[in-house]
Amino acid sequence: MAESPGKGVVLLSGGLDSTLAARLLLEQGVELVGVYLSAPWGCCDKTKALKSARQLGIPCQVIKMTDEYIGVIRHPKYGYGSAMNPCIDCRIHMFDKAKGLMAQTGASFIVTGEVLGQRPMSQMRRSMFLIEEQAGLTGRIVRPLSAKVLPPTEPERLGWIDRERLCGITGRSRKIQQQLAEQFGILDYPNPAGGCQLTDKQFGGRVKDLFAHQERIDLEDMELLRFGRHFRVGPQTKLIVGRNEQENRTLAEYLGPGRLLFEPEFHGPWALAVGPPEAALQQVAVGAILRYAGAGKLPPRPAVICRVGRSREAAGEPLSERIEAVGPGLAPEELERIRI
Ligand code: SF4
Repeated sequence: MAESPGKGVVLLSGGLDSTLAARLLLEQGVELVGVYLSAPWGCCDKTKALKSARQLGIPCQVIKMTDEYIGVIRHPKYGYGSAMNPCIDCRIHMFDKAKGLMAQTGASFIVTGEVLGQRPMSQMRRSMFLIEEQAGLTGRIVRPLSAKVLPPTEPERLGWIDRERLCGITGRSRKIQQQLAEQFGILDYPNPAGGCQLTDKQFGGRVKDLFAHQERIDLEDMELLRFGRHFRVGPQTKLIVGRNEQENRTLAEYLGPGRLLFEPEFHGPWALAVGPPEAALQQVAVGAILRYAGAGKLPPRPAVICRVGRSREAAGEPLSERIEAVGPGLAPEELERIRI
């Protein structure tokens, strides 16, 4: 599509900052198209992002990150932050995706809710410029919340955007954003997101473990890192034990080819095994289920059903086997030893 001067693609996260950034430009009559970039570990919220787009009155496209994104996380050119968060590479990749939407929609710049100095890795002045340059977007990323403390962007220089009507916010305080929200009558906005899971040390440990043990990794492998307690049973085999009913059901949804689901007949956690069925797998799975079920709640002859995952195309229900669950379960220190 031919480029339309004055039209921008705004990255919506579902948080207040990106909503305000969009609003500041819409107030000036700038035409915007929203985009939500969906990643399995993201700090963003799709439902809130779509709601924000509706309230702003702009269309919003959801772009799901592909397996290519895993390569970015695995081999970041600019390294990791405090955990397994390669923020600079991640932002370059995200802007590259948004650039694709620019071409599709005829937009000529990108808008974000970034605030100078708000995040240590990707929102410092030098990193912002580096990211822009590496994404091939120098001068074409507008950050309305911090515009006055950043050099004028192309849309500002060309007069499509009035710089004087933008803000000069820096740092982590949310005070000015709260005032702006009030001024725009935005009353129903989420608290700042808990953050991207890649910045979380425990989640980062799981990512590291996955990278160390598995050559080919897809987004589903990454998604699974978000649920349950993880145990390494063998070089390529992992057991994931649900922490509540909802996680049990979620794990069951991931039962596919090459995976096993251990489902107790008594009230207790379900466990999903990923990878080749190691000799010790059944014992660890049943032992972990018994341990987390709590000894007092067991029936006289407890059993666990082991279901074999089949491909979606395979006809019939998954195969299953009934295993007697005897013993007190694995000792806490044994579980701790193999915990990821
Ligand atoms: S915190 Fe960093 S790694 Fe996580 S989504 Fe944001 S930029 Fe990417």
